[in-house]
Amino acid sequence: MVRNNTGRLAGGNEEMSTTTITRRYAFCAGHRVYQHESKCKNLHGHNYAVSAVATANKLDDIGRVIDFAVLKEKFEGWIDKNWDHGFLWFKKDPVCEGMFRSYAPSMDMKNFRCDFNPTAENMAQYLLEVVAPELMKGTGVLIVAIELEETEKCKAMVSL
Ligand SMILES: [Zn+2]
Repeated sequence: MVRNNTGRLAGGNEEMSTTTITRRYAFCAGHRVYQHESKCKNLHGHNYAVSAVATANKLDDIGRVIDFAVLKEKFEGWIDKNWDHGFLWFKKDPVCEGMFRSYAPSMDMKNFRCDFNPTAENMAQYLLEVVAPELMKGTGVLIVAIELEETEKCKAMVSL
């Protein structure tokens, strides 16, 4: 194995292995799990963290999948705009429907109406299958997994 003049490994490396990078980003949000059997049916919130796992067909000229700062900017930008300090709710949840259709508009309260029940599993799947492909368009980079931490002990991982 040799290094080229930019310090990137050159040789058979890319054919023998797959390189991924992960960027983690913390945010706060509220939710309620529709039809939950116990305490998660209540309106509550979490200090979430999302980790995006990225790969590319080949590393760039200096040996990166993508610059960490670019990955951060894309995910952090989307999360900040849509989920951070907002409330996620399932569009078929009548409790939240009532709250956010009648109260929230007048209070200008940030909320995200989901096509899915906002469990960690569903949130991760949405980020992987709907949000990530849009964010990464034109970069040549593929997000292959999303991990969503609801607490330090509880997290969901969805991968391609
Ligand atoms: Zn919860």
